[in-house]
Amino acid sequence: MADGYEGIVTVCCSDIAGQVRGKGFPASDLEKRRRFGVGWTPTNVMINCFGRIPATPFGAEGDLMLVPASGGDIRLESGPGLPLEHIILGDILTMAGEPWECCLRSLLARALRALEEEAGLRLVASFEHEFWYERGEERPGDSYAASSLRGMEGFISEFLAALRVNDIAPDTFLPEYGPRQYEITIDPAEGLVAADQAVKLREICRSVARRHGSRASFSPVVTHGIVGNGVHIHFSLTDLAGLPVGFDDTRPGKMSEVCASFCAGILRHARALCALTAPSVISYERLKPHSWSAYYANLADRDREALLRICPYPEVEGLDVSRRFNIEYRGADAAASPHLQLAALVFAGLEGVREALPSPFISTGDPGRWSDAERAERGITDLPRSLGEALDALEGDGVIGGCLGSVLTQAYVMHKRGEIEMASKETLADLCSLYAEAY
Ligand code: GLU
Ligand code: MG
Repeated sequence: MADGYEGIVTVCCSDIAGQVRGKGFPASDLEKRRRFGVGWTPTNVMINCFGRIPATPFGAEGDLMLVPASGGDIRLESGPGLPLEHIILGDILTMAGEPWECCLRSLLARALRALEEEAGLRLVASFEHEFWYERGEERPGDSYAASSLRGMEGFISEFLAALRVNDIAPDTFLPEYGPRQYEITIDPAEGLVAADQAVKLREICRSVARRHGSRASFSPVVTHGIVGNGVHIHFSLTDLAGLPVGFDDTRPGKMSEVCASFCAGILRHARALCALTAPSVISYERLKPHSWSAYYANLADRDREALLRICPYPEVEGLDVSRRFNIEYRGADAAASPHLQLAALVFAGLEGVREALPSPFISTGDPGRWSDAERAERGITDLPRSLGEALDALEGDGVIGGCLGSVLTQAYVMHKRGEIEMASKETLADLCSLYAEAY
């Protein structure tokens, strides 16, 4: 760093609005700040993605600590000769040092601990992201086209390098189907690390885009009527020694009993989960039929319109499939905190394991061509068709509500109902523009 500059470190959390917010201090104070971090305020969790607090159960009272987590660092070049942009993801603790009820990172840690203690299982995950890049080049017919990458090579190489510097291993980078739409996949990691990496990836992408005079948006729908940006959450289960336990080639879908029960738990609670995994008003513009997202709470083998998709693997001699076998949850987007998304999936899956739920029906083809009665017979429910409906489902789901706890559930519902109220004053096109800027 050049002389004359003093860098800052910002301790942040990924919150209910899916925003990364925090407070900074001079970089030279980092060691001193590791233990108690920075002060934080309960009502901050009620700031919605439009920057407003329509209502809060916490008022102006109360104090918390936002404390840097080990492994939470994001380091980014901010420009030649300038100090690094240094963010550290943290945990929100009460003044007594306990996890605060609305700390989403602590919630995920608790979910993963329960999965270990009650089921002897660990979760490995990877968040696959789609996003829109403002300065991407657009021409008719350019879906997946090599030409879609032209002119943005500088951004791409800096983005991938920045991921590596932050211990995130890029797997693929591709031009997607939509105009100026791109996708980045990364290697899987242990649950908490995977969620941290998803938060980091979005921040890194936006920051590098900005340095290239552009913007990146992960909003579920950037332009109304155009294909959405999904977050596909890939997961697999291991035992406590790290050995995969999801694959069993003697069973339907080649899913082991425990993996099938885990999936059954997710499907049982899918309607409430949507409130947490697809949490914006326009998320439901993405979750439409035939959009390669998800429309029903179903499990299918290699079908990109299922909520849970059994992912493919090469079927060649000598390959250890059990290490590649994974399931993908497609009903998620980047308006949510990855910590909350993964926590919700783990709690629902664990419930399925606890109850030893039977393997879900594995659908082939579009469940939309079946009658309501046929879907019901196969245990396939509709996903919510709006955020309001999803919140109703969350309020009516005692299991998910119980796992989140009443303080978080009530704050969450209040936060999101306020967002719906604000959104109701906008046209859909304007709303998509607002969300595109927010995410
Ligand atoms: N854009 C689709 C979504 O909203 C996903 C397309 C794909 O399968 O990659 O989830
Ligand atoms: Mg994709």
